[in-house]
Amino acid sequence: MRIDFDFLVIGSGIAGLNFALSAAGRGARVAVVTKTALPEGSSRYAQGGVASVWSPEDSFDAHAADTDGAGGGLCHRDVVDLVVREGPERIRELIELGAHFTLREDAASAFDVELGLEGGHSRRRIIHAVDATGSEMMRALLEAATATPNIALFEGAFAIDLITSAKFGLPGPDRCLGAYVQRGGGVDVFAARATLLATGGAGKVYVYTSNPDVATGDGIAMAYRAGARIGNMEFIQFHPTCLFHPHAKSFLISETVRGEGALLRRPDGYRFMPDYDPRAELAPRDRGRRRASTR
Ligand SMILES: Cc1cc2nc3c(=O)[nH]c(=O)nc-3n(C[C@H](O)[C@H](O)[C@H](O)COP(=O)(O)OP(=O)(O)OC[C@H]3O[C@@H](n4cnc5c(N)ncnc54)[C@H](O)[C@@H]3O)c2cc1C
Repeated sequence: MRIDFDFLVIGSGIAGLNFALSAAGRGARVAVVTKTALPEGSSRYAQGGVASVWSPEDSFDAHAADTDGAGGGLCHRDVVDLVVREGPERIRELIELGAHFTLREDAASAFDVELGLEGGHSRRRIIHAVDATGSEMMRALLEAATATPNIALFEGAFAIDLITSAKFGLPGPDRCLGAYVQRGGGVDVFAARATLLATGGAGKVYVYTSNPDVATGDGIAMAYRAGARIGNMEFIQFHPTCLFHPHAKSFLISETVRGEGALLRRPDGYRFMPDYDPRAELAPRDRGRRRASTR
C-alpha cells in the first residue's frame, strides 16, 4: 500500500512529536511512524530535567560556557548558542501546551518553576517534573498530537529503509521520497515531500545501558545507506550512576543526585573521579566555596 503525506516523521519521541506539532500547526499533513508503542523511546525515561536559562541570576553566556566546559571545548559554538538561546522559548511552549513542571513553593503561575542543579552547571537551571520530566513532556506532546487532526500516528510501524530518487534512477539530485515501513504482515510505502529521522540514539550497542530497547540506531543506519554523511559517532553520553542488578534491567539513578552533592565512590569508599578529572574535586554545589577534598 502507498500512503502520501507532506511530512513523514520517523520516531515518536520528543523530537519527532515536537516537529510534527510544529509542521501540522502550519497546515501540513504529517505521518508519525514508530516501531513499538507511541510513548516508547528514551524521551519517556528522562528524569532529571531540561537545562534552560530561566532565573534572572543566570545568563546565556554562563550556560554556553558550562556547556562548552562539559563538552571539553569540542562543541560547535553556533549550535551551543542556538540551543541555549532558544531554550527558554521552547520551555514556554511546552508549558503552554500543558506540560506541568515542578513549581516553586511561592509559585503564582505555571511559569514559576523550581530550578534544580546538575553536574556541569554553575547555576540552578534544571526545569523538571519531579524526577519524571521526560514522561510528563511526552504526556503533554502525545495528548496534543493525538488531538491534532492533520497528524496521523502509526504504532507498530517499523521504518526499514529510506526511498531515494537515485534508487529509482530518477533525474536530478538524489533526494528522499519517503520510507518503506513494515506494519503487521506487510511493508507499506510512506511517500512524503520531506522525511524527518527522529529515531533517537544507539545506546543498545552496549551490553549495559540506561537506554530503552528501541535505541538501536536505525535512523543513523538508514541515513548511511541512503548516502548521507554520518558524523560525531564517537560522542556517546554515558550515565555514571545506574542501578545494577544481575537479574534486572539497569535503570538510571538521576544525575541530579550528583548536582545536589552526591559523590561517586568505590565500595571501599575511595573517591576515584578526581584521579581522572580535577573538576571532580569539588561537588557542583561547592564550586566557588573551595573546600578540602573529601576523598
Ligand atoms: C534513562 C535516561 C535518562 C535521561 N535523562 C535526561 C535528562 O534528565 N535530561 C535530558 O535533557 N536528557 C535526558 N536523557 C536523554 C533524552 O532522553 C534524549 O536525548 C531524548 O529523549 C531523545 O529524544 P528523541 O526524540 O531524539 O529520541 P527517542 O525519545 O529515543 O525517540 C526515538 C523514537 O524513534 C522510534 N524509532 C527508532 N527506530 C525506529 C524505526 N526503525 N522505525 C520507527 N520508529 C523508530 C522509537 O521507537 C522512538 O519512538 C535521558 C535518556 C535516558 C535513556
